[in-house]
Amino acid sequence: MRHIKLGSFDIYQLNGGKFALDGGAMFGVVPKAIWEKLISPDEKNRIPMAVHPLLVKTQKAVYLIDIGIGKNWDSKFKEIYDVYEEDLFSNLDVGPEDVDYIIATHLHFDHMAGYINYNFKKAKVIVQKMEWQDANFPHLRSRASYIKERIEPLSERIILIEGDYKLDDGIYLILTGGHTRGHQIVLIERFDKGIIFMADLVPTVHHINYPYIMGYDLYPVDTLYARYRIYSMISKYNYLMAFEHDREAKVGYLKFENDKPKLELI
Ligand SMILES: [Zn+2]
Repeated sequence: MRHIKLGSFDIYQLNGGKFALDGGAMFGVVPKAIWEKLISPDEKNRIPMAVHPLLVKTQKAVYLIDIGIGKNWDSKFKEIYDVYEEDLFSNLDVGPEDVDYIIATHLHFDHMAGYINYNFKKAKVIVQKMEWQDANFPHLRSRASYIKERIEPLSERIILIEGDYKLDDGIYLILTGGHTRGHQIVLIERFDKGIIFMADLVPTVHHINYPYIMGYDLYPVDTLYARYRIYSMISKYNYLMAFEHDREAKVGYLKFENDKPKLELI
């Protein structure tokens, strides 16, 4: 677990489970001859991944951005995705009962299926309205990513938003689309510094190049345009990027070399 200070805010990159996904699906149009040099696949062509939700503690509230893959999966599911379950709140001085807001970047199982495993006593769950609709009425192309029994219970505490949204404390939800219609990322800003949680807009540090877009994305060209827009904002304000899906939690600054995006990891 990594701890980052942003002014008086405490930010933690948590461990929300390890898993593996097909490398070809993760790199879309990028040929294996190229991506396998960045990250090597296992005998089933899967690459090692993890989920690193972000916990933000301010003077006023505790925010949790995504929850992760969760626990109590059956052996078939664990085998397909090579799941290793982890407890999100281990080694933290706050528990699920202290969380005031859960921000869901979107409702795919690797991001939000953990919801049913923790007793969030008071938390409200903030989701884009389009994402809520698409998760509840998925089509055949997206159905495997949405698990009904783990999405329906969210309805008891959901807040649906439409488009960009500002929370108290300088936390901004930015609708990007691309991966799903209602996919959003999160900017945490404190005076002149900020951290931006990239979610599936840039799932790992190996996806920083513009066309390295997942085959899972429902609207890949929207992902490309969202990257142009978000990268220019990130480099203008020098925000720190936090990545969700590397096996080890990663953060870094965006640099450009001959107009090509590069990362300076810290
Ligand atoms: Zn994801």
